[in-house]
Amino acid sequence: MRKIVHLAAKRGFCSGVVRALDAVERALKEGPLPVYVLHEIVHNEHVVAHLTARGVRFVNEPEEAEGGTLIFSAHGVSRAIEERAAALGVRLIDATCPIVKALHRKAEAFAAEGRKIILFGKKGHREIEGVVGRVDSDVAVIESKEALAAYLASLPEEEKRNGLFACLSQTTLNADDVAEMRGILASSLNRLAVDAEVCFATRDRQNAVRLLAEQCEFVIIVGSPGSSNSRRLCETASAAGARAILLSDPEKFDPSLLDGVSSVGVSSGASAPEELVRELLGVLKRHGFEEVPDER
Ligand code: SF4
Repeated sequence: MRKIVHLAAKRGFCSGVVRALDAVERALKEGPLPVYVLHEIVHNEHVVAHLTARGVRFVNEPEEAEGGTLIFSAHGVSRAIEERAAALGVRLIDATCPIVKALHRKAEAFAAEGRKIILFGKKGHREIEGVVGRVDSDVAVIESKEALAAYLASLPEEEKRNGLFACLSQTTLNADDVAEMRGILASSLNRLAVDAEVCFATRDRQNAVRLLAEQCEFVIIVGSPGSSNSRRLCETASAAGARAILLSDPEKFDPSLLDGVSSVGVSSGASAPEELVRELLGVLKRHGFEEVPDER
């Protein structure tokens, strides 16, 4: 039996992650040291461990930075955090992804128009906390279609007819789910401004994984459980009919998962380093899997 591996055409680090990691490298070179990063620079334990070993300190509050340089991660921060950090007198580098920054601006503009914001995303996710913390009014964070139905059921009919609403989305959700929730909202609220989209990197990676899942029995997504976009890739592959797993450490891959499998698809989340993908390909090669070139 010929055993093959297909590699997703779009995978791994997105432009926002590359930019954030470049900011850390620049800070390590230029100083002042130490370099602090507020929260994980990206949701990947290998990246965080590697930077920690090089002296980068990850902190939960801006005030933990004592001198040196403080970097905001790619996920962005609230206005309050920005203000607290500015008062510290440390060098500040804002590595928020420009797409997340644009999301902040949209939330601010909708709030200024007096619209109630409905934000699709995971409560407690750093990106969501940052967006919610950009506006003074309440933001309804909606995690699922079920939560959306409950939210709509709680609104008085008069408000559905005449209330001003806007919907936005976390950048790393499942693109199909976002489209579906957008449609439900648009058919339920009369005066809704719609700007809920996942980012291009999330969409491209999900599309590529869907293609992989159509041609492979088993799909492995390299990425951390804490990474929203990596988890979505795994769900996308499962929904497209493949058996799929999320793998944070190729060294811990269980080869018995390959029993009876002749085609494996490999992709990686936007925060997963390519070295981990290469490591996994090495493991698969040792088990007789040959990488086939991507012809799409
Ligand atoms: S996943 Fe999208 S929004 Fe998030 S950092 Fe990457 S490019 Fe930016």
